[in-house]
Amino acid sequence: MIDYHTHTSLCKHADGDPKEYLAAAEKAGLKEIGISDHTPWPTGYDTQFRMTPEEFREYRELVSKLAVSSSKVKVKYALEIDWVPGRMDEVRSHVENEPFDYLIGSVHYTDDLPFDNPDHQAVWKSVERSAEVWTRYYELLLEFVSQGGFEIIGHFDLPKKFGSRPPETERITSLIDDILTAAADNHIVVELNTAGLRKPVREIYPSPDILRKAKAKGVGITFGSDAHSPCDVAANFAEAIHLAKECGFDSYTTFEKRALLPRRL
Ligand code: ZN
Ligand code: FE
Ligand code: FE
Ligand code: ZN
Repeated sequence: MIDYHTHTSLCKHADGDPKEYLAAAEKAGLKEIGISDHTPWPTGYDTQFRMTPEEFREYRELVSKLAVSSSKVKVKYALEIDWVPGRMDEVRSHVENEPFDYLIGSVHYTDDLPFDNPDHQAVWKSVERSAEVWTRYYELLLEFVSQGGFEIIGHFDLPKKFGSRPPETERITSLIDDILTAAADNHIVVELNTAGLRKPVREIYPSPDILRKAKAKGVGITFGSDAHSPCDVAANFAEAIHLAKECGFDSYTTFEKRALLPRRL
């Protein structure tokens, strides 16, 4: 198995030494661990939750040192990038010039609202407001996936983190359909992210319904714990594998220098 979504303390909200993440990966019997910390933004974006552009060299060195320190687990070099409309040019050349194995594309903000931040939960108390956030979230995710330039959709239905449910509207259904169609067209896969099991919603991202639709459209999957601590590496992966199989998957994908390599589940 692989864990393709992990963080480092450079992002200011994760703990543990990268060597401890690697040791946890060995202990879990993983074949690969991907280090996918939050992208720095040259002109500053969401600065309290990510490394600075100056720290990027440190990140690169940390991952390359880690890559030669285990004979059992392959270390993949990755990033979790955000969709910031109108500002993607600021990171594009950097992302394209670095020898990443893959990129995770995530939406953590609906415009100015950091909707997955526990300090901004008031929004979920209003039915109307939460419906707006869900719809806007999927609109932004559709823009991101249509634009492409990354390999894995991060925590597909993240707005459910605190227990909110999407409004049952045609708009939401068609946005999800369009996102998955764009993902299939752009060879972007969906991660089964077990971090949701550690949040109030207590569910894997994404829901079985989205996974079944992904399967029907030929969209692949990867696995990620979104570990912000060594103890979370490969957390609840048995459950994730079970869910993947239940939704019809018999394979998952790995990435090397941004090329897709399928593996049997
Ligand atoms: Zn994080
Ligand atoms: Fe994320
Ligand atoms: Fe993450
Ligand atoms: Zn994440």
